[in-house]
Amino acid sequence: MKIQQEKIDRLQDLLARPGQRIVVVSHTNPDGDAVGSSLAWAGILRSKGHQVTCIVPNKYPYFLDWMPGIEEVVVFKNDAGGRAVRAIGEADLIFCLDFNAISRLEILSDTLAANTRARRVLIDHHLSPDEGFDLAFSYPESSSTCFLVYCIIEAMCGVDAITCRMAELLYVGMMTDTGNFAFSFLTPELFRAVAVLIEKGLRIPEIHNNVYNAYTEGRARLFGYAINRKMELIEEGTVAYMSLLESEMRRFQFQQGDSEGFVNYALTIKKVKMSAMFLAHRKFIRVSLRSRGDVDVNLFARKYFNGGGHKNAAGGKSFVSMRETIDHYIRSVREFAEEGHLG
Ligand code: 5GP
Ligand code: MN
Repeated sequence: MKIQQEKIDRLQDLLARPGQRIVVVSHTNPDGDAVGSSLAWAGILRSKGHQVTCIVPNKYPYFLDWMPGIEEVVVFKNDAGGRAVRAIGEADLIFCLDFNAISRLEILSDTLAANTRARRVLIDHHLSPDEGFDLAFSYPESSSTCFLVYCIIEAMCGVDAITCRMAELLYVGMMTDTGNFAFSFLTPELFRAVAVLIEKGLRIPEIHNNVYNAYTEGRARLFGYAINRKMELIEEGTVAYMSLLESEMRRFQFQQGDSEGFVNYALTIKKVKMSAMFLAHRKFIRVSLRSRGDVDVNLFARKYFNGGGHKNAAGGKSFVSMRETIDHYIRSVREFAEEGHLG
């Protein structure tokens, strides 16, 4: 992926003065791409002599606990000592990684907005980013933010700067955001980047095992329950949805991240083009959407669930009951189909 030289020059200018206080922040419900890209980028910034704090609004899933350096990530929600607020307040420069709108920081949005002095740089691959960044690396054609960070490092200082640790971090996002190299934007450049990471000492089976084979028994059983008992098909079997109530999640000792991948599973059914997952939270229902081919769930999420994301993977929220949310989904899918969006 070609990163414009002019943007790299601006980035170099912003980083020219050493010893700056820098915050790297990523989105609510941080995933492998969010954490991997943040920690790898923080490593590069530190190698240039800056003080860096990585912050996420809430906890990352437990199957990322093994990631090198993850213990240094400040989780705003659990941060009794106020480290996140202090670091953001004192920051000269704030990097926003793997999200396109400050509102995606949810509980952290106001704290970030309060520092009006810091320069802000966006490094992201979602569609339709917010305006108002001092510098924006917005590349929706990148399959992950980790791959984008790799390309920026390559353009800015060359791949020699990438350590084995960074290679592992970057690979996590490349692997998870592409569904293990199965979705779109699988370019030759991406695989060349993976080849370079292997040269750095990356061991793919180990990373795969750490991320995908590290669930709890409760998660495995919840998965069976969700597919068997909760998956519904509509529109002649071409559209799926699934929902989980808090009581059901409690029954299987749900931990954050346990439902990851559930929404994708319905797409293993040949006829299914679009799939939704409704996950109950205390104050709202989190909506996850997936599709294949030309079915655009970014458009669907924007239109019906105040959300967004990518063409084939998007999300949003619902502030009504589970029943009403599902009814709204069924009606919206009908309208979407009538407008010709389901092919
Ligand atoms: P997931 O279903 O994995 O939570 O999210 C899928 C994609 O949709 C991610 O790229 C995520 O950034 C985006 N997404 C999820 N929830 C929201 C939301 O509430 N608003 C927006 N704009 N994007 C979302
Ligand atoms: Mn991502």
